Amino acid sequence: SFSTGAALEELIIPPIQIDHSQLLINGQFVDAASGKTFPTLDPRTGDVIAYVAEGEGEDVNRAVLAARKAFDEGPWPKMTAYERSRIMLRCADLLEKHNDEVATLETWDNGKTYEQAANAEIPMVVRLFRYYAGWADKIHGLTVPADGPYHVQTLHEPIGVVGQIIPWNFPLLMYAWKVGPALACGNTIVLKTAEQTPLSALYVSKLFHEAGLPPGVLNVVSGFGPTAGAALASHMQVDKLAFTGSTATGKVVLGLAAKSNLKPVTLELGGKSPFIVCEDGDIDQAVELAHSAVFFNQGQCCCAGSRTFVHERVYDEFVEKSKARASKRVVGDPFKKGVEQGPQIDSDQFEKILRYIKSGIESGAILESGGERLGSRGYYIKPTVFSNVQDSMLIATDEIFGPVQSILKFKDLDEVIRRANATPYGLASGVFTRNLDTANTLMRGLRAGTVWINCFDVFDAAIPFGGYKMSGQGREKGIYSLSNYLQVKAAVTALKNPAW
Ligand code: NAD
Repeated sequence: SFSTGAALEELIIPPIQIDHSQLLINGQFVDAASGKTFPTLDPRTGDVIAYVAEGEGEDVNRAVLAARKAFDEGPWPKMTAYERSRIMLRCADLLEKHNDEVATLETWDNGKTYEQAANAEIPMVVRLFRYYAGWADKIHGLTVPADGPYHVQTLHEPIGVVGQIIPWNFPLLMYAWKVGPALACGNTIVLKTAEQTPLSALYVSKLFHEAGLPPGVLNVVSGFGPTAGAALASHMQVDKLAFTGSTATGKVVLGLAAKSNLKPVTLELGGKSPFIVCEDGDIDQAVELAHSAVFFNQGQCCCAGSRTFVHERVYDEFVEKSKARASKRVVGDPFKKGVEQGPQIDSDQFEKILRYIKSGIESGAILESGGERLGSRGYYIKPTVFSNVQDSMLIATDEIFGPVQSILKFKDLDEVIRRANATPYGLASGVFTRNLDTANTLMRGLRAGTVWINCFDVFDAAIPFGGYKMSGQGREKGIYSLSNYLQVKAAVTALKNPAW
């Protein structure tokens, strides 16, 4: 009983215009040097929303030179931190005012539900800008009691020109996680959006300029990975690189950074996160939480709880109820009220997910629900649940990045910790239990950057996020993100009078 038909037929063209589709370099919207454009598509239909300027190496170079000048000559890094903070706060206010327009762009370009974009994601971006605006004037060094006749202090300085490369699954949230702390610390930026979702970052960067951001501080280049992305990762004038995307591409950009100027790199990469349901909790709540842990955002979350481990005592009931819940999930046009799941981002991801579903069936997992596309237009996939999943199956080892839940059975805590950790990833994990000892044992035993206990997908600006193992390097959000964007200078002054 998936929602079909009507929602797919009554497609709405959102009542907004695409005002910004060029590159944003030095405070101006400009065409690509080559004059090339590429289409950005509506995942509901595959139709073209707009043609966007296609940045390549030469455009990245122009953007880096603008960012370089804005950093080296100011005024941004030389402004008072309070002034920087106020510009960020003004941008947050403007974004709050334009919440619904930006949410419309985000849904149109990405396919996520409008309710999620408008009521959760854009407000989270506003909150994040305010959070980092708050940090801008609270970043300072230390006075160090070194041995010897010296006065020693540390200066926490911006690192310089920052290159940032982001993915398509949370276009504006990923933009905010990168831009917020980098600006608060006084850096200048060249950001490359994902080729699938270039629109919202251009809109919000325009708001930053309206809020008083000087030209050249925040440059946005739309374009493809191997051209624009690689040019940014290997640019000799870029002082730091921050990347979010797949583990495979993370390895590539780390290599490019190393081969060029050894710029430091932070990486937020893929995952195959466990969600562990113990036998002692309320089963209906467990089913609901495990369901949203994997199906949220069409399953396109780096931290999706895509391996659902369930204690053998409650396994059968859990599977039955998860199947029923998935079958009730409302899939359809993401602009419609009450829709829980929109289309996948594009045909590549859509095909990849269907291949994984096929492999799950072939490897002997039991298909409880879904397993195929919905409708004949756009990239909709029915919420899919597999039971009887074994650790070695591809649907249990690989990041599917789609609406596919794999339910595995376990007997005891030591076993589930060992199995949950038996992956090259370590981004997130979830635990569902009422037993404090069990919660503490799992919290300490799981090798992942986040452990959500009796909750999932809590992304407040103050909470650090990042991966163990091949899920990444470094942390974003919270106080931890600041160190990615700062240099520490030790200033040592000889004291004339050793008695001081
Ligand atoms: P991707 O790695 O293909 O693309 C991510 C970005 O890298 C895009 O902007 C792309 O254009 C760029 N890129 C691609 N090739 C490049 C190259 N050779 N040089 C430089 N840049 C290049 O990933 P994707 O398919 O767009 O996104 C999905 C992946 O991102 C998933 O694996 C997911 O787990 C991961 N992700 C991780 C997080 C996190 O915070 N850990 C968040 C969101 C997504």
